[in-house]
Amino acid sequence: MSIDRTVRHVKAIITGTKYLFSGPRMTIMYPEDIEELPEGYRGMIEYDWNSCIKCSLCAMICPADAIKMYVSKEESEKEKKIVKRPGINYARCIFCGFCVDICPTNSLTFSKVHDMAYYTYEEHFYPPDKFAEGIKHVHKGRRVRVILDEKRGIKYEPVD
Ligand code: SF4
Ligand code: SF4
Repeated sequence: MSIDRTVRHVKAIITGTKYLFSGPRMTIMYPEDIEELPEGYRGMIEYDWNSCIKCSLCAMICPADAIKMYVSKEESEKEKKIVKRPGINYARCIFCGFCVDICPTNSLTFSKVHDMAYYTYEEHFYPPDKFAEGIKHVHKGRRVRVILDEKRGIKYEPVD
């Protein structure tokens, strides 16, 4: 190992040790503490069944093939034609926001939920009815806000 690399390693260790013993930590105690997210944050998407006009634009624009149109059985039988509604696969979604932006009726909106966990791959699928049920996820932790700290870079303060 060159002297230069050794010096860099030693410097990194010194920096790490300094942060270990000085002042508050920069990480938060997730999930007891949850970061307050800014307006416009792109979390999991919410779908409004009633305002959707079934135009398919969201499915067409999706670059990750995450939104697809599913046949809505009941509506198809009732209207005697094929009626389709969007559903989402969160294993594919890259949260680009194209679908939300293009929706002409604002039927798709971003929530601030980003930390869902699933046991199986299939649970990532939200067909239209499940998609319209909304995000069933409750944050139980204390919400904290990011504050710029001149010494440490950032720190977290409780919001409520
Ligand atoms: S946010 Fe982007 S990747 Fe996700 S469903 Fe919408 S268009 Fe597709
Ligand atoms: S969610 Fe919006 S873009 Fe997608 S089918 Fe419904 S109205 Fe069209």
